Amino acid sequence: MGFFNTKQNQDLSEQWRKKYLNLFDEQNKIEHENQEKQRLLRQFIIQISILCEGSDKNLDPILLNARNHVKNEVDVTTLKNELKIFNESVKNLPPKKKKLEADLLFDFLIRQYPDPVQQAALRELKGLVNSEERTAEQLTDLFIEITNIIEPEIALELEVNEDKNIASDVVLVDVRMVTQQLLQYVSSLPIPAVFEAQTAAVKNALLNPEQSLQAFEEVLNDLIELLLKIKEFSEAEQQDIDQFLIHVATQLSELNTIVTETNTTANDTTKNRNKLDQAVFTQIRELQVQAIKTTSLDSLKGMVNECFKTIAADLKSHHQQDKEQQQKFQDSMAEMLNKMIELEVETEALKKELKVVHTQASLDTLTGLFNRNAYNQRLRDEFARYKRYGSPFALAIWDIDYFKKINDTFGHKAGDKVLVLTAQQLQEHTRDTDFIGRFGGEEFVMLLSSTSKEAGLGLADQLRELISKTGFNANGKSVPITISCGITEINEDDTEETLFERADKALYEAKNKGRNQCCVL
Ligand code: GH3
Ligand code: MG
Ligand code: MG
Repeated sequence: MGFFNTKQNQDLSEQWRKKYLNLFDEQNKIEHENQEKQRLLRQFIIQISILCEGSDKNLDPILLNARNHVKNEVDVTTLKNELKIFNESVKNLPPKKKKLEADLLFDFLIRQYPDPVQQAALRELKGLVNSEERTAEQLTDLFIEITNIIEPEIALELEVNEDKNIASDVVLVDVRMVTQQLLQYVSSLPIPAVFEAQTAAVKNALLNPEQSLQAFEEVLNDLIELLLKIKEFSEAEQQDIDQFLIHVATQLSELNTIVTETNTTANDTTKNRNKLDQAVFTQIRELQVQAIKTTSLDSLKGMVNECFKTIAADLKSHHQQDKEQQQKFQDSMAEMLNKMIELEVETEALKKELKVVHTQASLDTLTGLFNRNAYNQRLRDEFARYKRYGSPFALAIWDIDYFKKINDTFGHKAGDKVLVLTAQQLQEHTRDTDFIGRFGGEEFVMLLSSTSKEAGLGLADQLRELISKTGFNANGKSVPITISCGITEINEDDTEETLFERADKALYEAKNKGRNQCCVL
């Protein structure tokens, strides 16, 4: 089924997602930059605190405390307080002439700030510090000087000096630059209707920035609050759209399943199905086009519902036509099934009959052993196995001695009994895999799988001995039974005939040698 194009649904969902995710890319970028600045600043504070350590024993615990705060990522207020304490402590330090070892700090900063202008300024300041022999008292000044070089915007925030005249100039320049950037950013954002008024107020404040740091902070806070609200709102809307799209996709796939099931039932409906395919495809394509154009979730929902109504109507009419076809199909299936059941019953009966016939055809009725036909079949099998796998076998031909005389002396019935008893002995004392059959008259044949003629001779001799001890009484007289055997094994040049002839020759030899014995050839 090709008309429910899952890829197109995915594209649609993807467009929605992209639209909303892009809004926050810019914001994330700025957040990332700020984080990076904060990280550098932290390193900077830690370094400077290490540098200053030991300059005064009253200052050391404050430095250690500040360093720990910075490492533990404290909030800005705590940090500001710490810096204030630090600043006060520095001011109250007794005048002391101590040369600052600032090389470590400058080397670190030069590595961190690759901008050639900043690096040149840092090197110049480094030279000055070394030549001027600055004291610990002048640490705050040095701190501000360095910050002005590397992070002029942060210097603004860190300005804890009470000297407002110098600070306000710095603030004025930086605030303008920052507000312009922020305005640009806010203008690029698609603002949901509910936030329009709030956004206008923030934009206005950014357009006419007040010069005080406090006012600027307030505008920034308002902006951040607004952005967070928009983000939250858009995330909720995105979730709503996502769920709606999942719902649409599920419905489409359900419809797809219904149509697929319907259409696999009969070949005759191909024509109808193609018509339906086309109708549904058109609806879905229309839905996708509209979904891209639309801006409101409600109108999209309405449109999809309309679309599903049309598809449902198409399906209904399709099902009606299909139902008739299915009925025909089911009728012929039922008919076919009945025929199959009849056929199976007939086949089963036939199989049983065949089995009986086959069994009868391969068994000797008097002794219950296999007959000559079965022997011929088995001989062919053994030959094929030998040719294919080289698996050897031995053939033994048995012939009851003086059987004519037994018949003549004790009667045919006794003769038959001799046959049955001999057959029993042969059968009972051989392996299941060996073949024993009545070849005809008082002659028996044995096919011994995977057996050499020597091994066959050993087995045959034991059997012969057993049979010679199987006497019985007929009309009060003991009937002696002895048997002779000729054995041979298959060889490369043999045919079925030559193999038999050799065994028969061995039997003849056994008879000639006086009977009741086995000979091998
Ligand atoms: P040898 O020791 O040389 O084998 O002598 P023999 O008498 O056994 O051999 P011969 O071939 O002369 O005699 C076989 C006799 O077996 C002849 C036949 O009447 C008898 N016979 C063949 N089939 C049956 C049968 O089904 N039942 C009975 N009772 N006798 C059978
Ligand atoms: Mg015979
Ligand atoms: Mg005989």
